Amino acid sequence: MTKWIATPSRTKQILADYGLHAKKGYGQNFLVDPMLVERCAQEAHASDAVIEIGPGIGSLTEQLARVAKHVTAYEVDHDLEKVLADTLSPYDNIEIIWQDFLTCDLRAKVDELKAKYGSVSVCANLPYYITTPVLFRLFEEAPDIPYITVMVQKEVGERFAAAVNTADYGALSVEAQTLYDVKKLFNVPARSFNPSPNVDSVIIQFARHSEQTMDSQDLQNFFTFVKACFRQRRKTVYNNLRDYLGSGEQALAVLAKAGVDQRTRAQELSTEQLRKLYECL
Ligand code: SAM
Repeated sequence: MTKWIATPSRTKQILADYGLHAKKGYGQNFLVDPMLVERCAQEAHASDAVIEIGPGIGSLTEQLARVAKHVTAYEVDHDLEKVLADTLSPYDNIEIIWQDFLTCDLRAKVDELKAKYGSVSVCANLPYYITTPVLFRLFEEAPDIPYITVMVQKEVGERFAAAVNTADYGALSVEAQTLYDVKKLFNVPARSFNPSPNVDSVIIQFARHSEQTMDSQDLQNFFTFVKACFRQRRKTVYNNLRDYLGSGEQALAVLAKAGVDQRTRAQELSTEQLRKLYECL
């Protein structure tokens, strides 16, 4: 029986057979831990349709194809066309779209998949250089995707999942947690990749809150406000707000109305408190 693509020996063989080298510019680090890849696919709530960003040589794609009715994978590196045609040939439920995920027509694809298969989830080992833009595209344009399960650099994952009053808690944590429950699933050591990156990774899962009262314009405004509150982390929220509003008086009035002490720093404020502060504005 053929080995899973994600085994170290098969990955090495595939790279050698096609004369491929992982391209740094595309953030290519291929997963070579078959159990981890299988577990990631199983935890992704991917039983209907799943979208993958960056299939590489197909290691995660293969496991997703085993759990999902349909896999749609976006890949930019055309040198992988022959490889994927070969490695994924045993599966008939995979569509590879040779396009940059950041410029694809995401809305049309999600609607099409929902109509054909039911729910749509996302599962990917993300190219590190575009982690944040990919996630924010999904956050803003696909509120109907209930689960996003992604492998990201450990320090980025920790910022998304950080609790209030910790060193990692910041605008990124508040933005993500306003929309999702963010859960760290498991750590991934650098040795699980070929080639090994300099940093460890983590798999995080975003589960969308079912109730969302802000429309997209309101969300944009809230996120701008949150960034302003965290602009200078060591300053009090009063100082940051005063700079943002251009008025100390107004900043004090908003803080008083929301019941927030003016000596508080933004990292001491929960998502709900920041939301209240924004609403008082
Ligand atoms: N999924 C494979 C794995 O886990 O072994 C490969 C993951 S690798 C970290 C990231 C993949 O994303 C690469 O195959 C890379 O070519 C692809 N990629 C990079 N930028 C992309 C983009 N803008 N849109 C789609 N895919 C992209």
